Amino acid sequence: MTDSKSRLIDGASTVAPPLTTYTPRYIDIGINLADPIFRGRYHGKSRHPDDLKGVVGRAVDVGCTKLIVTGSSFKSSRDALKLAREFPGTVFSTAGIHPCSSSIFSASHHKHHDESQSEGEEESEHTPACDPDPSRPMPDGDGVDPARNDKIIADLADFIARARGSSSPELVAFGEFGLDYDRLHYCSKEVQLHSFSAQLALAASLSPQLPLFLHSRAAHEDFVRLLKEAFGPRLERLERGGVVHSFTGTVDEMRELMDLGLYIGVNGCSFKTAENCEVVRKIEMSRLMLETDGPWCEVRPSHEGWKYLVEWEAKAKAKAAVTSAAAAMAEERAGEPEKKKKQQQQQQGKNNQKKEPEVPERYKTVKKEKWEEGAMIKGRNEPCTIERIAKIVAGIKGVSLEEVCEAAWANTVKVFGIES
Ligand SMILES: [Zn+2]
Repeated sequence: MTDSKSRLIDGASTVAPPLTTYTPRYIDIGINLADPIFRGRYHGKSRHPDDLKGVVGRAVDVGCTKLIVTGSSFKSSRDALKLAREFPGTVFSTAGIHPCSSSIFSASHHKHHDESQSEGEEESEHTPACDPDPSRPMPDGDGVDPARNDKIIADLADFIARARGSSSPELVAFGEFGLDYDRLHYCSKEVQLHSFSAQLALAASLSPQLPLFLHSRAAHEDFVRLLKEAFGPRLERLERGGVVHSFTGTVDEMRELMDLGLYIGVNGCSFKTAENCEVVRKIEMSRLMLETDGPWCEVRPSHEGWKYLVEWEAKAKAKAAVTSAAAAMAEERAGEPEKKKKQQQQQQGKNNQKKEPEVPERYKTVKKEKWEEGAMIKGRNEPCTIERIAKIVAGIKGVSLEEVCEAAWANTVKVFGIES
C-alpha cells in the first residue's frame, strides 16, 4: 500500500496524496473463529471448502488486524489457542466455559467434558450463539456433580497454565463465562450459577490474574453479585479488569458495570432496538470495545442501528456528488455543457425511482450452497463486518469514526495487553 502510494506520488505530480485520510484499525474482541462454520461445516456436514484464511484475510483487509478468538468450552478454547498459534500476532485466544456450555458440571450430563475434545469430533458442535433465544427453559434439579466440578476446574486451570507457559502470550483472557437466563434450555440457572462462581474463584486465584471476557444476559443482579463475591464489593481484587461482551442490558445496568471499572463490548445485538441504541450512546468512550461475535449477532436491516449505516452511505454519496459536481463545473468550463446536461437528466431519472434504503456490501455475499472464493456467506457473520459496528456506534454517538476506532483500540490494547 505504502509502496504503490509513494510510487504514484513520485510518478504523477497530478495525484494529490490523501494526507488527512484516517485509516481505521479494529480489534474484534469477540469472534468465534473456532466454530466449524468457518471451516465450511454446518451442523456436522461439510457444505463448502474451508475458507478460514479468507475470513481472516478479509478482516485484515478492512483494518481488523487483531482478532481475539473466543473459547467457550474446552474444545473451542483449545481450538482458539491453535488458531492463535497458526496466525501469530493476528489471532489471540480466550479460555473458559460459556453459560450455555455449562451443563458439563451437572450430574445428568451424559458424557465427560473431555470426550468432546477428541479430534474426530472436532466439527460436531457449534459455538453457543450470544443472540438471545428464549425457549423451553430447563427445570432446575439436575444439580452439580462435585467430582465433575473438581475435574473441570482442575483441567481448566491446567489448560490456562500450559497456555500461559508458552513463550508468546496467545491466551489473553479468562472467558467466555458468565450467566445467560435467556437460554436456560441449554443449562439450568442452578448449574449456570455454579459454573460462573467456580470459574470466578479460579480466575481470582490465578497469579498473575487474566483479564475477564464476560457474558451477561438477563441476569444482571446475580452476575454483579457473584463478581463482587469473587473480587470484592468494588471489584478491588480484579487486577486486570474485564469486558462484558455483547451488551444488551439497560442504561442503569451498563452504568453499574462501568462504575465497577468494567468495559462494555458492542456488537450487532446491541443495536436491535431504540432502547439498545440509547444505551450505546451512553457508553463512555473510555469503556468501549468493539466486536462482531461472528458467526452470530450480525447487524440486520430490521435493527434500529441499521439506519445509521443508511445515513452513513447517504453522507458518503452526498460527498461524492459534491466532488462530481465540482468536476462537472470544470468540464463545463472546458466546453462540455451537453455532457453535463445528459448526466443531470440521468441522475434525475435515478432519483425518481423509489428505492429501499440499502447499504452496499464491501464483499460479495453468497448462500453457502453457492460458495465461491473471496465471498462472504449469507447469515455467517465474520470479523470484516466490524467496520459496520464502528460506523453505527459513531452515528449513534455523533462522533467521528476515527474517535470510535481509536478509543476502542486503546481500551482493548490496555486491558488485553495486546501489542499495537
Ligand atoms: Zn457471549
